[in-house]
Amino acid sequence: MWARARATAKVVGHLDADCFYVSAERVRDEFLVGKPVGVLGNQGACVIAKSYEMKAAGVGTGMPIWDALVKCPGGIYVKRDFRWYEVLSRLMMGVVREWSPRVEYYSIDEFFFAAEPRRGQTYGELAVAIRDMIRDRLGVPVTVGIARTRTLAKLISDAAKPFGALAVMDRQAEEALLADRPVTEITGIAGRRAARLSPWGILTCLDLARADRRLVRSLLTAAGETLWWELNGEAVQPIHARRPAHRALSRGGSFGEATAEPVVLYAWLIRNLERLIEELEYHDVAAGRITVYLVYKDGQTGMGRATLPVASQRFDVLLEVTRPCLRQAWIPRVPASHMHLIAEDLTARGDCPLGLFDPPERRRQAEAIARLKREVNARQGRFVLRSAATLPLAGIYRDAANEYDICDVRGKVCF
Ligand SMILES: [Mg+2]
Repeated sequence: MWARARATAKVVGHLDADCFYVSAERVRDEFLVGKPVGVLGNQGACVIAKSYEMKAAGVGTGMPIWDALVKCPGGIYVKRDFRWYEVLSRLMMGVVREWSPRVEYYSIDEFFFAAEPRRGQTYGELAVAIRDMIRDRLGVPVTVGIARTRTLAKLISDAAKPFGALAVMDRQAEEALLADRPVTEITGIAGRRAARLSPWGILTCLDLARADRRLVRSLLTAAGETLWWELNGEAVQPIHARRPAHRALSRGGSFGEATAEPVVLYAWLIRNLERLIEELEYHDVAAGRITVYLVYKDGQTGMGRATLPVASQRFDVLLEVTRPCLRQAWIPRVPASHMHLIAEDLTARGDCPLGLFDPPERRRQAEAIARLKREVNARQGRFVLRSAATLPLAGIYRDAANEYDICDVRGKVCF
């Protein structure tokens, strides 16, 4: 435990932008400031972020647009633009790096950092300085929490929202904060884990911190024990200044409109496979196993999985194994709403042996096509050159907002 504690930062900061997507839209359009604003995702069907003004009108995250329009008819609804949000995100990270030698890019609008005040500065002043510099330079309101551990820092910044800056360093102040908050406010403790704790009278964060450590471990495994140490001020979760290597890569998501049409499902398979291959190429890895996962509107799910004889990142090879997976996952005549394509058993591409039954001529040809596709798309725009099987998705490709997704923002630790 001691050795692990020393590898972590002594004091941890957590920065979280306030209603980030809305704030990002306001940075480039002042007209939106002070008004109820909703940002739409999923081909415009759902509210994925809302301003505090819109929240006050009763609009929640994930609400379908038709319900949101009833709750907040005077609201302004804009389409998401992850390319722009990433630009601001990287600029925010640049500011945090001016104040800290070690910054973790946790998600598009959240960073953990080693908190090291300058000479004569208190931790509270450091939190204020970072928050104000981001507002002054970029116009984005954020909240900063500083504490002895990651878990405490995140609880503090959640409590200080919006536009807060707070350092809580002594045990008495920590306990006052923990006593006020239900255990479900801790990242990693959702309904099922909370239900395991409640028969033992563990309801608040302070109850959890004061519970017997061995009891917490038996109820929530080692992950729960980690949280127990962190709530008690013992830093055991390190700051990842570099993202740990991916164990799996995936692409997919909602169709926007559910479909039972085999040609449309096949078109989505191709689109997701092309995006997945982009990702494999970016990380320079090959997939050893592929899973196709379908979620149906009536709640059913379907899955197909295949192991490749030799790991690959080639379109023709992956398509050959993915097509039967789709057939396995497919339930005829039931509309499906989501598809996920997951690549696992990733190996560095240099380590992949050549396939025994893969004629060199075919391999050269496939590699030449892949190279051409990459080069044309790099020059002319992503997806300009793509498989003809995606023609049923013309509407998706017509809208530039669909070209860049939250999962295209690389380097985040959260997923
Ligand atoms: Mg946020």
